[in-house]
Amino acid sequence: MAEAAAGAGRGAARSGRRSPMAVYMCRAVLPAHAGPRGELAAGPLLRWMDAAACLAAEKHAGMSCVTASMDDIQFEEAARVGQIIAIRTKVNRAFKTSMEVELKPVQLLSAEDHLEHSLAIERRRIRLGYVQVFQKLMQESNKEDTCEEKDAVSTEHTHVQSTELVLPPHANHHGNTFGGQIMAWMQTVASISASRLCRSHPILKAVNMFKFWGPSFVGDRLVFNAVVNNTFRNSVEVGVRVEAYNCEEWIKDQPRHINSAFLIFNALNDKGELLTFPRVKPTAQDGVRRYHGAVARRRIRLTRKCMLSAKGDKPSDAWETSNQAYLSYSNIAALTHLAGKPGWDITKTLDNVKIWTHEEGAVLSFKVEMQVKVPSHVAFSLLSDFSLRQRWDRHFLTCEVLQAVSEEEKIYHITSAPMTGHQPRDFVILVSQRQPSRPREPYTVAVRSVTLRAVPPRPEFCRSEILCAGFQIHSNSSSSCTVCYFNQVTSGVMPYLAANLTGSSKSIEDTALECIKFLELEDSKR
Ligand code: ADP
Repeated sequence: MAEAAAGAGRGAARSGRRSPMAVYMCRAVLPAHAGPRGELAAGPLLRWMDAAACLAAEKHAGMSCVTASMDDIQFEEAARVGQIIAIRTKVNRAFKTSMEVELKPVQLLSAEDHLEHSLAIERRRIRLGYVQVFQKLMQESNKEDTCEEKDAVSTEHTHVQSTELVLPPHANHHGNTFGGQIMAWMQTVASISASRLCRSHPILKAVNMFKFWGPSFVGDRLVFNAVVNNTFRNSVEVGVRVEAYNCEEWIKDQPRHINSAFLIFNALNDKGELLTFPRVKPTAQDGVRRYHGAVARRRIRLTRKCMLSAKGDKPSDAWETSNQAYLSYSNIAALTHLAGKPGWDITKTLDNVKIWTHEEGAVLSFKVEMQVKVPSHVAFSLLSDFSLRQRWDRHFLTCEVLQAVSEEEKIYHITSAPMTGHQPRDFVILVSQRQPSRPREPYTVAVRSVTLRAVPPRPEFCRSEILCAGFQIHSNSSSSCTVCYFNQVTSGVMPYLAANLTGSSKSIEDTALECIKFLELEDSKR
């Protein structure tokens, strides 16, 4: 199984350096691709993105590939007839599964390749963890009633069914229906369903992550059933289920579930203003379940959107069911990005410690590189347990585990000596630890602040934030490793770093030497 990423944008296809493993595709938007408003319809775009992603996967695998699943897609801007769409796709990572062919690992050439590769595994975690998060949120939503408004519209009126016959142009040379073609058909049926509530042409804003349960082939009849699951002020969620039958199965009514997706639409009036959708009331029991499902999916979608557009200076994100997977993702992603940035300057070199700094606009970060004579897995297990940190970091006063979320995620409350002034500081931090999934990857321990409702700031402490910090541990030999500590500097840490850079303090190198001593001593006891 391989993860291929597709990005589509308007304008001329970008020139410049091209990756040999990427696939580039350009399409002119013609009237046949446009909807009633003259804008590129979502259907053709989904088809092109899927086809290009599939070509990238095939370029990597050397054999024919089919789409297994697609992450959430957000549609940001409209493209019009006459414009050119440039699509670039690339395989980020190949995953081994017992069911699939064993794919060769991806060759990583540029720094960008390395970053995308290490983050692909984090996105996979989100895909795998989605069902649990969704179920937890469903339970929460179930406690709330469905809409009791008098003028709420029954969802019955939005039911649409459509059948398509899969012909050779809809399939690859092995006769497998293109995933993008199925998505394009789903989009058409869903938009008809949504239009029943707005008497306007709905505009697709987002598609929820979905996976293909099984293949379909030339000659299959695909039956699409769509219905509105819920409406929110300016948007509506339509769910579509696709089932396939061949001729025989059709007579016996033995469908194969191909996939299900949830599509979110907006609608505009003639003046281009967003329309308000009427509230809906579900009728059957399935409808009530889907109504709550839509609430849960919306929460996950909004949280993800907030986090992706998050700026570093805002208070840390709250740790809630809907965003746990994304907070862990962003924790690991932020550290991986910081570590992978070009332009680190060496500021100080000692025997076995190097201090580096990195400047980017107003953002300053530092890195402490330590050569340690212990095996990397030992350093990882000692450094990822923050309750041991007091032993080598004199800034740490107390450390309490607030939640052991999983073996790889823990939330701690830390109190720490004052940096300036006299008030001690405290932190609520998420520590995410990851083992390398391939031999030359580092161990990672990422740290960022989170907000826990149960642990509000207290007057005796100055609540402080960690934007991005943590360790990467690279193995050098069976008995030695390089530990890199990273920290994106917040205003609280600035005086500390400044004192170290100007030479008036040696606290960074002293702490690093203590860290090395601690690791080597603990290792000798093992
Ligand atoms: P779920 O019911 O858990 O959402 P399904 O895969 O059965 O999962 O269906 C996905 C979506 O497709 C549903 O949420 C619903 O919006 C729509 N759907 C499923 N079955 C029908 C149907 N018979 N008629 C109309 N819409 C349907």
